[in-house]
Amino acid sequence: MRLSKYFLPTLKENPADAQIVSHRLMMRAGMIRQAASGIYSWLPMGFKVLRKLENIVHEEQIRAGHNPMLMPTLQSADLWRESGRYDDYGKEMLRITDRHGRDMLYGPTNEELITDIFRSSVQSHKDLPLTLYHIQWKFRDEVRPRFGVMRGREFFMKDGYNFDVDKPSAMHAYNRHLVSYLRTYERMGLKAIPMRADSGPIGGDDTHEFLVLADTGESEVFYDKNILDLHLGDREVDYDDWDQCAGIMEEWTTPYARTDETHDEDAFNEVPEDRRMSSRGIEVGQIFYFGTKYSDAMNAKVVNADNQEVPVHMGSHGIGVSRLIGAIIEASHDDKGIIWPEAVTPFGVGIVNLKQGDDDTDAACEGLYKAAVKAGLDPLYDDRNERAGGKFANMDLIGLPWRITVGPRGLKNGVVELTSRKTGESEEMTADAVIEKLIAIYAEV
Ligand code: ATP
Ligand code: MG
Repeated sequence: MRLSKYFLPTLKENPADAQIVSHRLMMRAGMIRQAASGIYSWLPMGFKVLRKLENIVHEEQIRAGHNPMLMPTLQSADLWRESGRYDDYGKEMLRITDRHGRDMLYGPTNEELITDIFRSSVQSHKDLPLTLYHIQWKFRDEVRPRFGVMRGREFFMKDGYNFDVDKPSAMHAYNRHLVSYLRTYERMGLKAIPMRADSGPIGGDDTHEFLVLADTGESEVFYDKNILDLHLGDREVDYDDWDQCAGIMEEWTTPYARTDETHDEDAFNEVPEDRRMSSRGIEVGQIFYFGTKYSDAMNAKVVNADNQEVPVHMGSHGIGVSRLIGAIIEASHDDKGIIWPEAVTPFGVGIVNLKQGDDDTDAACEGLYKAAVKAGLDPLYDDRNERAGGKFANMDLIGLPWRITVGPRGLKNGVVELTSRKTGESEEMTADAVIEKLIAIYAEV
């Protein structure tokens, strides 16, 4: 993409209403624009990052054996009356009446709709286990939408639902989700810690939230420092292997890690004092096992191996895809702007032309740009007629992990400069070598 053709409405000043750094930077980097309180338009660069996160979530869910689908944003109130949640959900639910006077709602979550789909087509344990998920916009009429996309009213969420014949099988689905979530966050360059949590209005017994540590997080968290050393890395996971998934679950849930809702001071005090940490965290996902809560209410049954009709065991599992963008920025920025992890960066590399209009420099930039496009590096070429200082500040603000600077002085020696956004370190090399190096870097991502 050439910057001269790209819609990137950056702001020089910090927007007055943005209280936290991710919100400020998303606004300043021209990623989002508020359409109404807690509702945002995703401008091209914000949209690009959102799509990247969505793709990672899809890839990891499909890898875990889960079925992608798409349910609508608008739902009929009837199903929610069946489960009893039409009344229970309260003011967070946006209620709508259509022209025929029928009660509708903008879905805050999808347990009812998915249970209805399930019960209409599955009757036998032979069709289980089954996990269905989608990534769709949700609406919750939050009392205090704030922090930009972090606590919006409309937000983009992956929600998945497992259907199993009994509790042991449903607990494997729970563990499988935990593992797939660990992998998802790691791929995004994030450390998200599973913590024992409270089940809240969705109901149920077993639940973990995934938290990214950040001062601006809304949750208070307590954890054993050792949990920070755990990595899934590139270990081979067989998602059908109950023992392996349970083992990973145990590895991550043995060190103490809880949110304030379930915090237990006595248990925490058993952690050696120098490892006891408390801080703030951003909830980027949650997994639940809630058993037969919805299948009982909505009569979703299967015939088991003993030929008995039993209510299906379920769980629901969510990832806050749009909130994750805020969380990633909270975890990775400096005073100049965003620092994107390579896995989610909107563009692989920025190219800065130091002397736009100079024939040799322009030609070198063109050549480099085309080579980078061809190599799949998805470059953003700043081809505007601007001062170098402004171009650098802009690149730092939007936070691409790598920048290639091309100017007449270097070209005289046959080199360009490659700079890391994270470390600020630069090295001079030939244009070919830069492309090779970036190809190697992105091959690892
Ligand atoms: P919170 O406690 O932050 O209100 P929640 O526990 O009600 O969230 P869940 O039902 O667990 O939310 O939804 C799954 C995920 O969706 C959350 O872990 C979070 O990342 C994201 N999410 C929930 N509410 C919002 C929101 N208002 N704006 C953006 N993302 C949200
Ligand atoms: Mg939650």
